[in-house]
Amino acid sequence: MKNNCILIDNGMCVTAYGKATFCCMINDQGVNVTDDLKNYNALIAPQRVPAQTPGDDGFLKVCRGCKVKEDAGVRSRRVRYIDKAKQDKIVDGKLQYLDISFGNTCNQMCVMCSSAFSSQWRKTDLEMKASGVSFREDTETQHGGKRVPNNWHLSREKLDEIISLCDENLVQVDIKGGEPLYDKSFEYFVAAIIKKSPKVRISISTNLTKLSESRLEFIKTIPHINFGLSIDGIGKNYEWVRGWHDWNIIDNNTRRLMSALQPSQNASVNFTLNRYNMKELLNVWNYVCSIGTESQKKIYLYLGQIATSPHSMSPRAADANEALHTLEHLRIIKETNHEWARIDLSHQGLVNYCNTILDTANPFPAKYSTKVWQSKMDIAHNTIVKARGWDINDFKT
Ligand code: SF4
Repeated sequence: MKNNCILIDNGMCVTAYGKATFCCMINDQGVNVTDDLKNYNALIAPQRVPAQTPGDDGFLKVCRGCKVKEDAGVRSRRVRYIDKAKQDKIVDGKLQYLDISFGNTCNQMCVMCSSAFSSQWRKTDLEMKASGVSFREDTETQHGGKRVPNNWHLSREKLDEIISLCDENLVQVDIKGGEPLYDKSFEYFVAAIIKKSPKVRISISTNLTKLSESRLEFIKTIPHINFGLSIDGIGKNYEWVRGWHDWNIIDNNTRRLMSALQPSQNASVNFTLNRYNMKELLNVWNYVCSIGTESQKKIYLYLGQIATSPHSMSPRAADANEALHTLEHLRIIKETNHEWARIDLSHQGLVNYCNTILDTANPFPAKYSTKVWQSKMDIAHNTIVKARGWDINDFKT
């Protein structure tokens, strides 16, 4: 049976922790970015061998994550790409969907992130571990361990190797982090990619902490770009969740970006539900409505993300009653018919989202006793307090 996912033959992912493979969902598989990526196809060929022998259902062994999601009624990455590809001409053997992180360099340390994706977390984690502070979850992944070579980013030479794999068949590039706009490679890479494939769709996930005037001018020249803005709280709540010192900078940059967007460009606010923002959804929705109205541009609130790892930051660690706030906020949002703001969820997506939130009313996984779970959650919270130097609980009314 032929494999059932377009990314296996037409995708490439360069991860924040230095691996190159055909999809970001298959974790540590792939080759190292330090290898000669000009030979990517030859290097990755052995990784694709299982593609010749998928299971009866068409899934490779390494793709079980998508299978599990689909069995649970959740939209998998595989299905999202099947939908995207409907508008694209697929060409055998060509790189058409590129997913790239320039490295793990980031100026934030979000509660649901880790050393693998944030150089700030890596620095703080290592310092805390050295000083004997109990870590929120003492695992290799959280510390970066073997998955993170160090604080690093792709050199120009490496970027050139990746760019050399692209041609006019490239249809979509997703740029992730680390923080892509914290990296000077952004302009260089985007300009080179557009030269190779002028109609390419670019999508970027950003915290929007850095937005100089010259960068804004460059952004205006990109033919097709979608900004996914990582905003999952307002004011102090934002600062706590993201580990950033000033919400006003984010607010100001968001408004500047929105007013600069051209007709073929758009933006969405990506809300990641976690233990600290279960009561924040309506505030973020109102914010989305206000910037849509102010800019007179359509903006989506994307609700797909729920923190699951580390466990201690997931909605399950919140007070069970808070799940009810989130559901009530969802009901209000669903009933609002706003000219410029929309939620980006299908009916089925909304049902799945609600079910997952309801599931958080089960306070802890069966393997833990209440006492053990509570102590883990307290340790996790105290680690964030230590990392931030302040406590969100002191700002609760
Ligand atoms: S099936 Fe899922 S895990 Fe496998 S390549 Fe496709 S998107 Fe990635």
